[in-house]
Amino acid sequence: MDLPITPPFAIRARLLSPLADGGTLHEPDGLVVVDAGGRLGFVGAAADAPDALLAGAHDLRPWVVMPGMVDLHAHLPQLPNAGLGAGLDLLTWLDRYIFPLERAFDGPTAERVAPAAWRAFAAAGTTTALVYGAVYEASLDATFRAAEAHGIRAIVGKVMMDRITYDPTIDAAVILDQSLAESARLIERWHGAADGRLSYAVTPRFAVSCSAEMLRESAALAAATGAYWQTHVSEDRGEIAEVARLFPEAIDYVDVYDRAGGLGARTVLAHAVHLSDRELDRLVATGTRVAHCPVSNLFLASGVMPLGRYLEAGLSVGLGSDVAGGPDLSIFTVMRVGFYAQNARRVAGVDRADSGPVLTPLDWLRLGSLDGARALGLDATIGSLEVGKEADLIAVDPAYAAPLVGQAPDEDPADLASRLIFRSHPDMVRAAWVRGRRLDGPGARG
Ligand SMILES: [Zn+2]
Repeated sequence: MDLPITPPFAIRARLLSPLADGGTLHEPDGLVVVDAGGRLGFVGAAADAPDALLAGAHDLRPWVVMPGMVDLHAHLPQLPNAGLGAGLDLLTWLDRYIFPLERAFDGPTAERVAPAAWRAFAAAGTTTALVYGAVYEASLDATFRAAEAHGIRAIVGKVMMDRITYDPTIDAAVILDQSLAESARLIERWHGAADGRLSYAVTPRFAVSCSAEMLRESAALAAATGAYWQTHVSEDRGEIAEVARLFPEAIDYVDVYDRAGGLGARTVLAHAVHLSDRELDRLVATGTRVAHCPVSNLFLASGVMPLGRYLEAGLSVGLGSDVAGGPDLSIFTVMRVGFYAQNARRVAGVDRADSGPVLTPLDWLRLGSLDGARALGLDATIGSLEVGKEADLIAVDPAYAAPLVGQAPDEDPADLASRLIFRSHPDMVRAAWVRGRRLDGPGARG
């Protein structure tokens, strides 16, 4: 295929996208036009497009052009261990497989690994990623530099820990001040860089490895600078018990972050599997966002989020791969496993067996794109194919997701979404663009 590299350009293809008003865009023979500034200037049926636009279009039919996926939770230094440690619980897995890897993720290692990591996100169809780095300032600089060069839309943060940490050089007496100062310098260098394509997330790892003071100071830093704030909450029963032991003054896990001033619309909490009604209400009331990571939650046997209950309460939820808790960067995989996990709740009798599925395939597609963008406050900018938005796109070859026998045309958009989710293939994303600039990664394996 003749793939455009930089804007302006036009692509003729099948189009599939959630829409801001709640509907779905489906054009079997559509056209997207990306203007010189990397924004969508036209989205619609090819038949409705002016001849001048159509004449110069790159014809990608029968590929499907969709909004790029949004991954709300992943750990970049952990990518090399994806798929390892099955059968362990969270805290044991961290100790055995994750901390040694992150300890080694210094500047030179990040220099080597980060470019390939960003290509891997793009190859999976992810054009926006909110990720955790390691604890070292130099490794964060290298990670940001790699994102800047690659072109992906990225929000990254240096992990902060002051009570179970893997950095042997650290002096316990100065770690809080040092971690805050490093985070502040990184915010200054990278928050809003590349014309707003790169952002910073202040990243206390989770309550088990952070003192109340570190949580509070990190939240204050995020609030003062407009950076995001991200951490983990209520992932695993053992972790929840440990947090209760460490923070006896808190009502529950969410209250630990509430007391720190960490809740709000710029905050993304990963997992939130076992929330009480009180915790759920508090997250909704404060507008706090949640990254749902069903693949990771089953890999580590953490639990299955009661997604229907959360959505009904009005919680803002998007999807996260949580690599390496999740073995796969593909948000399509996350949708598939998320769907299975919700079915498992009904099969096991935890949810009513006679209720329908919590979400349809088109709903899952929305969760992985537009709802993820909304969780980041970016839904006016990205997340769907709508005129005026920035051109963060992917092109998918549906032949990779074709049926085992026969060649069903999947004319119905819900059938197409179902096929892409339940028969997703690691090579089906053939191209990805951010602001109309093509990303390296997709198609690299042939
Ligand atoms: Zn995580």
